Amino acid sequence: MKNNTNSVYENMKYIICNWFKWDKKGTFIAFMKIPITILIPIIISFMNKALIELILNKANIITFIWVLGAVSLLLGVLNCISHMISENISAFQQNISIHYAVEAFEKLLTMDYELLESYEGRMKFERCHQFAFDGNQSDGAWAAVRLIGLIESILGIFTYAILFSYVSPILILFILITCLLESFTYHAANKIAIKTENEMVHDEMYFSYFFRLATDFVAEKDIRLNSAASWLEHTLDKSIAAYTKVMRWYTNETTKLTVLQALCSMIRDTAIFGFLIWDVWTGNIAVSDFVFCFGLVGGFSSWLNGISGHISSLHRISLECGKYREFMSLKKAVETSGNLLSDADINSIEFCDVSFTYDNKKMVLDHINLKVQKGERISIVGENGAGKTTFIKLLCGLYTPTSGKVLVNGQDLKYIDCSIYFKQIAAVFQDYTLLPSSILKNITLAEIYNKDKVWKVLEDVDLSKKIKKLRNGLKTKLGRQSDKDTSSLSGGEMQKLLFARALYKDAPILILDEPTAALDPIAEEMLYLQYKDLTKDKISFFTSHRLTSTRFCDKIIFMKNGKITECGSHSELMAQAGEYSNMYKVQGFYYQQEVNHSL
Ligand code: ADP
Repeated sequence: MKNNTNSVYENMKYIICNWFKWDKKGTFIAFMKIPITILIPIIISFMNKALIELILNKANIITFIWVLGAVSLLLGVLNCISHMISENISAFQQNISIHYAVEAFEKLLTMDYELLESYEGRMKFERCHQFAFDGNQSDGAWAAVRLIGLIESILGIFTYAILFSYVSPILILFILITCLLESFTYHAANKIAIKTENEMVHDEMYFSYFFRLATDFVAEKDIRLNSAASWLEHTLDKSIAAYTKVMRWYTNETTKLTVLQALCSMIRDTAIFGFLIWDVWTGNIAVSDFVFCFGLVGGFSSWLNGISGHISSLHRISLECGKYREFMSLKKAVETSGNLLSDADINSIEFCDVSFTYDNKKMVLDHINLKVQKGERISIVGENGAGKTTFIKLLCGLYTPTSGKVLVNGQDLKYIDCSIYFKQIAAVFQDYTLLPSSILKNITLAEIYNKDKVWKVLEDVDLSKKIKKLRNGLKTKLGRQSDKDTSSLSGGEMQKLLFARALYKDAPILILDEPTAALDPIAEEMLYLQYKDLTKDKISFFTSHRLTSTRFCDKIIFMKNGKITECGSHSELMAQAGEYSNMYKVQGFYYQQEVNHSL
């Protein structure tokens, strides 16, 4: 039984090793369930056997009371332990599922960014969802119940078989034959489960995507405004129909097998009882032995019947575990062998003949050459799709060039430890993330902070007055869904807050990717004026579709189809009268109209 990468055995070993790694005590308690569940029916059967023997031997009442008392006490203790263990197993499952989710979350944060954004990365993440992210219902958590159940069934069958063979050796032979017959049905059930799993994976991915879409308020807005709900429902219906077809086939096939299994177990149970009755009838075994074996038949049968469920479930869990391990083995972004930066400060960044492609077909960046020194302010402009964002992602070390090198202080960025390099970058992207926490935490992103510095940066971005007016000041929670006492800032205020976050970080490289998109022209002008001051000793990159921003930059890079087509200061490029100059003049006209309106 092999899946994509690991055998069932390897996956089960991996799961058990994780239990020991994350919760030794819980693992020990979970395994304790096995002997106790096997022992309880044996003790009950022994008690019945002993009582029958006492009755037949006409024992006195004191002996009766002693035997009954001792066995009842033992049973009471075992039952009590059994309940405690069951409770502990639920907690253990919860604990394990949290560990898987946290581990996967950490992986998301540390994996290669380019891979994370790619179809392959997203697909592999989606595929590990069922194993790691469904809490107590996740396969990572269910593995505990199923694996312990399987070991318990195997050991239980083994122990009871020995006890049976002691009473009636021929019985054990018969049991073995019926077990063999039943194992064929388990095998067939597994094959059906794998086939179903493979056919359903696409639809399941689709469902999880739909359900996430339905609970995403941002997407909801688009769905409603574009009346896309009926189209989505239609697409979902098609997917549900395909899913239902596979499930119907699965149910039909497994029903046939279940009937076959029920038949097997009925024949086996009848035969066992028949053997026992025959043996006691012919005097081969004592009545007390008959009672003893009779008491064990029920447990024995339920273990035999349960084994098929455990095996097919573990097989499915193994497939999910394989997907999880595949995701966990994806390339990391931060290689521990990465070099440190030769200097804590950043003195230069150089793109040496850098090209980049997402799909190995179209070059999104095409032989880019550019050197930037400390203190320089660079503006990157160009039409949509020119390659500006991709350039910034390469600069940040989130992507690696397809060919060429990005040098930081003369060192190839590819070999620099990303975690160290990221500390040197403060960036404001147009697609931002807010933490469901206070304004303060959203600026500092750290537990230890300098409050004076926080107020200083808020002053710099002209947001301090607004925040002082809020009832909870810096402690005001951001994000509509995180807290009932939240405040939602406007789009422009949010951009100012993100700018404050970048200033607070005070890193040697400052990247502002369309930071003025949501600002009105006056706020935008104020930001430009401060920008000049705030970027004095840094290397800064500014991308904006509004060319007014370029006046505050030392060097303008005009990009088109992944190439730098013009490069120079604002006045140099205006004098060249090329595409930049054209774009500037056209925008200048409309922009002036916008300014007049806002005054
Ligand atoms: P800009 O920021 O100038 O608008 P981008 O760098 O975002 O341009 O995109 C440049 C080109 O790369 C576009 O043609 C875009 O469709 C393509 N592109 C951007 N991101 C991806 C991606 N993750 N996968 C494939 N193609 C992409």
